[in-house]
Amino acid sequence: MTAPTDLIWQSKKPATANWQQQLKTLVREPAQLFALLGLQAEDMPAHLAACQDFSLRVPTAFVDKMQPGDWNDPLLLQVLPQGAELLAQPGFIADPLQEQSNNPHPGLIHKYHGRVLLVVSGGCAINCRYCFRRHFPYEDNNPSRKEWQTALDYIAADSSISEVILSGGDPLVASDKQLAELIANIAAIPHVQTLRVHSRLPLVIPERISDEFVTLLTSSRLQTVFVIHCNHANELDSRVQQAMAKLKAAGVTLLNQSVLLAKVNDNSAALQALNEKLFAMGVLPYYLHVLDKVQGAAHFDVDESHAIALIESLRTKLPGYLVPKLVRELPQQASKTPIPAY
Ligand SMILES: *Cc1c(COP(=O)(O)O)cnc(C)c1O
Ligand code: SF4
Repeated sequence: MTAPTDLIWQSKKPATANWQQQLKTLVREPAQLFALLGLQAEDMPAHLAACQDFSLRVPTAFVDKMQPGDWNDPLLLQVLPQGAELLAQPGFIADPLQEQSNNPHPGLIHKYHGRVLLVVSGGCAINCRYCFRRHFPYEDNNPSRKEWQTALDYIAADSSISEVILSGGDPLVASDKQLAELIANIAAIPHVQTLRVHSRLPLVIPERISDEFVTLLTSSRLQTVFVIHCNHANELDSRVQQAMAKLKAAGVTLLNQSVLLAKVNDNSAALQALNEKLFAMGVLPYYLHVLDKVQGAAHFDVDESHAIALIESLRTKLPGYLVPKLVRELPQQASKTPIPAY
C-alpha cells in the first residue's frame, strides 16, 4: 500500500495497543491533556467546571495529531472543555433536534422515510464539545438484548424501511460479537437493503477497523455504507489511511460528514484541504452540517451567510464531487434541510 506521502501525516508513535486497550486509556483529565501538549492553563478551574457538565474524553491517537504548544490547534479545540460552555446563550438548548419525541422505542429513532437510526451504543471514544447529543439521555438508550428485539421487530413490521443506520453515541464502541449478531438480525429482515454505519472511531482509534471487523461488516447480503465524521485534514494520518484502505478494499462506500465549526474549519483553505485529503483516502464528502444549537456549543457557531460564502468558494476551487452539501437538521422535517433553502 503506497500513500501519497505529501498528503499523509506520519504518526509520531508506532501503533501498538489494540483498540480495546486504547479505549481503556483515554485522556480524561485536562491536566494530563495539557501536559501531553506542553500547554500551561491560565484558568484551570474553568476547564474543570466545563468537565463537570460534559466530561473530557479523548484517545491518545487523537492527541498525537495535535500540534504541541498550540491552544488554537483545530483538533484540540474540538475536545477542549472551556468556561464559555457554561454561559447560557439565547437559542442554544438541551435537545435542539427534539429527538426524544421521535424515539418510539429506546435505541430507535425513526424520523425520515425509509431509514431508521439505531442507537447501538450510548458511549463514545471521544467527547466532542459541539456534540448535539451532549445532553441526550444515553442511560435510557443503551439497549438491552430485549430492547434490541423490540427495535428489530419494529423494523421487520414496516416494509418501507430499506436502510438501517447504526449510530450512537458511537456504534463501534460495541464489541464485534454484538455487532455481528445485530447485523445478522438486520440482514434477516428481507426489505432491508442497506446497512449504514456512522462513526468517528476510524479517526480517533483507527485500529478499531481491524480485519475481523471489516469481515463481519461486509459478510452479509446488505450494501454497506460507512460515514466517517472528520472535521479537519489534520485528523487524517497514515493510521486513518490504512483503516480507509481496508474498508474500501472490502467494497464499502466511504463518505464523510463534517460540522462547520468556528476556528476549526470555518475557512475555505481548511475545507479544501479536508476534502482533497479525504478523496486521496477514497472518501467522498457527504454533508457539511451547520452547528445544531445545543447548549454549551455557542462558541463554535458560524454565521449562515459565512457558511454559504464558504461553500460558494469551495465550488470555485474543487470538482463538484468534492463539495459537500451544506445542511441543517431541523425538528419535524422529512429530511436534512439544504442551505440556502430551495
Ligand atoms: C441524519 C439522519 C438520518 C439520515 O439522513 P440522510 O439524509 O439519509 O443521511 C436518519 N435518521 C435520523 C434521525 C437522522 O438524523
Ligand atoms: S456522538 Fe459523535 S460528535 Fe458526539 S461526542 Fe460522540 S463521536 Fe463526538
